Amino acid sequence: MQIIPPSVEILGNPDPRQMLRNMEAAGRVCYKSEANIKENTAGPFLRRLVQSGHESVIEHEKLTVKIICDRGVTHEIVRHRIASYSQESTRYCNYTKDKFGNELTFIKPLFWEEGDACYTLWKDQMASIEKGYFALIEAGATPEEARSILPNSLKTEIVVTMNMREWRHFLRLRGSKAAHPQIREIVRLLLPKFQEMLPDLFEDIVID
Ligand SMILES: Cc1cc2nc3c(=O)[nH]c(=O)nc-3n(C[C@H](O)[C@H](O)[C@H](O)COP(=O)(O)OP(=O)(O)OC[C@H]3O[C@@H](n4cnc5c(N)ncnc54)[C@H](O)[C@@H]3O)c2cc1C
Repeated sequence: MQIIPPSVEILGNPDPRQMLRNMEAAGRVCYKSEANIKENTAGPFLRRLVQSGHESVIEHEKLTVKIICDRGVTHEIVRHRIASYSQESTRYCNYTKDKFGNELTFIKPLFWEEGDACYTLWKDQMASIEKGYFALIEAGATPEEARSILPNSLKTEIVVTMNMREWRHFLRLRGSKAAHPQIREIVRLLLPKFQEMLPDLFEDIVID
C-alpha cells in the first residue's frame, strides 16, 4: 500500500490577463463604460464589482483543477452544485492491476503524525482493508463489489471546474474553521495559487 499527501494542480494553462479582460468586457456592458477599457483597468474594475457584491460578472470565467485527496473530501467537494466533476471511479478501477502498482493508495490524514498511536491504528486498518480488497478480487468479486470495503482514506482524483464566483464561495466556505480539516488542507493548497494568478478576485479571502 502507498500513503501520499493530497495535492492540487490547475489544468489547461489559463491566461489570467485574458480572463480578466473577458470579465471586464462583460461587466462594462452593464454600465456601457466599454470606452473606459484600458491596458490595466480590468483588475481594479473587477475588484470593485466583487467588493460591492456584483459577483455575477465573474461567472463568465472558470478554472479547472485536478485535486488528489481522499474519498471523504471528494464526497464533500461534489456537494457544490454549480460545478462540473470527473471523479476516479471505484466501479471501474481495479486496484489489483499493474497500472495501480498492484496496491491501494491512501491519503495521509494531516491530523496524525507517523509514530502517533492513532496513526499506527489507522495504518494497520488500511493494510487490513488492502488485504481484504485483494482477497475479494481473488475470490471472484468485481471491483464494483469489492469497493464495498474501501475507506474514506482512499486516494481519489477529481477534476473540478467551477466559475470564479463558485470558486470564491467554495474557498470561503471550505476554508472556514467550521469545515473539515482535510478539505481546509485542500483550500490551503489552492488559495495561494488562485491568489497569485488572480489577486483581484481572491486576495480578500483569508484563511486562519
Ligand atoms: C461546515 C460544514 C458542515 C456541513 N455539514 C453537513 C452535514 O452535516 N450534512 C450535509 O448533508 N451537508 C453538510 N454540509 C454541506 C452543505 O450543506 C452544502 O451542501 C455544501 O456546503 C454546498 O454548499 P452550498 O449549498 O452553499 O452551495 P453550492 O452547491 O456550492 O451552491 C452555491 C450557492 O448557490 C445557491 N444555490 C445552489 N443551489 C441552490 C438551490 N437549490 N436553491 C437555492 N439556492 C441554491 C446557494 O446560494 C449556494 O450557497 C456542510 C458544509 C459545511 C461547510
